[in-house]
Amino acid sequence: MTIHNFNPGPAVLPRAVLERAQAELLDYQGRGMSILEMSHRSKEYEAINARAEARFKALLGLSDDYRVLFMQGGASTQFALVPLNFLVPGKVADYVVSGSWGEKALEEARRVGRTAVAASSAEGNYRRVPAPAEIRLSEEPAYVHITTNETIQGVQWADIPAIEGVPVVADMSSDIMARPFDASRLALFYAGAQKNLGPAGVTVVAINQGFMQQARADLPAIFSYKTHAKNNSLYNTPPVFAVYMLDLVLEWIEALGGLSAMAERNARKAALVYAAIDRSGGFYRGHAEPGSRSQMNATFRLPDESLEKRFVSEAQAEGMVGLAGHRSVGGIRASLYNALEEQSCLALAQFMDAFAAKHG
Ligand SMILES: *Cc1c(COP(=O)(O)O)cnc(C)c1O
Repeated sequence: MTIHNFNPGPAVLPRAVLERAQAELLDYQGRGMSILEMSHRSKEYEAINARAEARFKALLGLSDDYRVLFMQGGASTQFALVPLNFLVPGKVADYVVSGSWGEKALEEARRVGRTAVAASSAEGNYRRVPAPAEIRLSEEPAYVHITTNETIQGVQWADIPAIEGVPVVADMSSDIMARPFDASRLALFYAGAQKNLGPAGVTVVAINQGFMQQARADLPAIFSYKTHAKNNSLYNTPPVFAVYMLDLVLEWIEALGGLSAMAERNARKAALVYAAIDRSGGFYRGHAEPGSRSQMNATFRLPDESLEKRFVSEAQAEGMVGLAGHRSVGGIRASLYNALEEQSCLALAQFMDAFAAKHG
């Protein structure tokens, strides 16, 4: 049976990437051993590290004003490192909160220093992202933090909001590389790899060098962005296999035509699923307001929880896995990351039509 993998993360990876990793697993480039078994100081790994950084920058059109770091501890570690590095005494960090991950980021910053909520769409449990005009900044904030796609509620900014005069920091864990965006609007952005970029274990951080200079210098070395930049992400042992996989995923994105090709592919995929919601006559109720719908995570409810359970188990029986909503919100969530094929969205939309016809 074909498996259609709608897992929210760790998530589906490109088949071609997995096959390549399998083919190279026992003997990496004729060395007679796996990349898993080599020093991170080997020329083989140094090449992977450099190539992954170069590909990441090329795909996003990032200038040399930015450094790209491969770090560990997931996006959750970035929730703490951003304020530790930049929320200096006397300053306030502003947070735009559009869902559960933004709340978590704010919670961590509160442990470090003074924070303010610059905008929130909590009312109605995050059915939309705030409008850029709703954002109210503090006087001289250290930075303003946004979450470009809220993976749990399924709401996404249509575009990176242009916020002038303050460094903008973005958690892009669940929509990085899904479409082109203006990275020059961001002073720092980060993404755990396990949604759109590769396996769990590596977190990519892109940081403007001028912004990095403002980071405090009195942190333990391992918590300091400067340390990782100075050491080319090789300060301590990196997650070599995760970075190797990341490089292969970036190569796969390049081969498919880069971010504009990803954007077209993702728009087509999401349209298939949202159309099934919209033509169901109210049987499926989308969580997000149409203008804030996420192309990465489509979230919706059915008339009652027993039907939702049935939906998940009947879908599973047809090979569609990972559709249960996050435990904190319930309902259904279909995660449609880059590597998910269009045929999986087609299969889901057909299943949704048939399920609604049977139970509606
Ligand atoms: C998954 C996710 C996180 C958490 O990532 P971890 O790697 O588990 O720390 C944070 N932010 C967003 C937007 C996410 O989707």
